[in-house]
Amino acid sequence: MTPTTTIPAAHFQKGRSEAISLIVVHTTENACQPGVAQGVAGYFAHPPAGAPVASSHYIVGPETLIQCVDEDDTAWHAAPVNHIGIGIEHTAYAHFTDADWQGEQPQAMLRRSAELVADICFRAGIPAVFVDAEGLLRGDSGITFHATVSEACRLAIARKMTGTIWVSAQHPASPISTHIDPGTAFPWDAYLAMVSAQLPAQASDPPPAHDPSAVFRPRMPVGLTRRMRKRIRNTMASLMSLPLGT
Ligand SMILES: [Zn+2]
Repeated sequence: MTPTTTIPAAHFQKGRSEAISLIVVHTTENACQPGVAQGVAGYFAHPPAGAPVASSHYIVGPETLIQCVDEDDTAWHAAPVNHIGIGIEHTAYAHFTDADWQGEQPQAMLRRSAELVADICFRAGIPAVFVDAEGLLRGDSGITFHATVSEACRLAIARKMTGTIWVSAQHPASPISTHIDPGTAFPWDAYLAMVSAQLPAQASDPPPAHDPSAVFRPRMPVGLTRRMRKRIRNTMASLMSLPLGT
């Protein structure tokens, strides 16, 4: 799908060290209303002096989809998985309640986001499934939350997985990652249903496995004399080199 507009972020890394395998869902901690995504994109494009160095590939609002970093480049949104991740910011608060997410503007934003995510999943071969913290540590592919990336970092530190991206990527001044977005009330099930509805139809049944014992047995036309049947069988048997029943 085509973004509404492109506003390049100031901070990102050209290229990627690995292929895309993860989509990371964020909230910007702003109101969900028209104009906010544009403001966040402006912040990424012209960050004030001393602001955290950050960017994401996309910012989704109720009225717009803004691309800030090319998918082939590395955005800075979830440190340990930036090299494999696509970051998608949503103009919303992590403390949103169920009722907040059901609002007209958040629903419009989620529909727009789901369309984007389905498109990325299809193009990058990413399964439309949730990846929890254990899955992240295993290197599973799918969709996850920024909070879940933080949880994986905390697990890795507790397990002393030193030398892994999960520990070494932590900022020295803030060793325990504390991101909570997009929040515990983010309507994952409904969102996943929206994503799935946008994916091209999948074959419901796997193709039948090849059965070597299944040989082609031609049906004999009706109304033939016994002699004619025998001649046909013999002719077909010699042509097909197949054993025919009598
Ligand atoms: Zn985040």
